[in-house]
Amino acid sequence: MAEETIFSKIIRQEIPTELLFQDDLVTAFRDISPRAPSHILIVPNKLIPTVNDVTEDDELALGRMITVAKKLAKEEGIDENGYRLIMNCNKHGGQEVYHIHMHLLGGQPLGPMLA
Ligand code: 5GP
Repeated sequence: MAEETIFSKIIRQEIPTELLFQDDLVTAFRDISPRAPSHILIVPNKLIPTVNDVTEDDELALGRMITVAKKLAKEEGIDENGYRLIMNCNKHGGQEVYHIHMHLLGGQPLGPMLA
């Protein structure tokens, strides 16, 4: 059984967070240290530590993460200029929180991908 992170508490609404979206599969909220004018995290409600742990059973939730990203990008008004979706995996990927999440970043030009 994987160890819970702060994201499980956010999903269960046990700590104050500006929730932007929640359904049976995913939850979205603003990143606590935004690196762009819009910086939102979209997470599966199920605890999956890393992308390496994803299985076919998770495909619905992972697909939902993208449709929620698209909806939130429109709500943030960043859909036309564009945005970036990022999932970091393990140490070399820069993953800090071991509950998979998609970063939605936008609101300004983001520069080259590895900058
Ligand atoms: P990672 O580096 O794992 O891809 O990204 C983790 C992200 O989670 C970071 O951008 C970090 O700022 C964000 N984060 C960490 N703890 C919290 C928290 O308690 N609340 C929120 N809203 N974001 C958090």
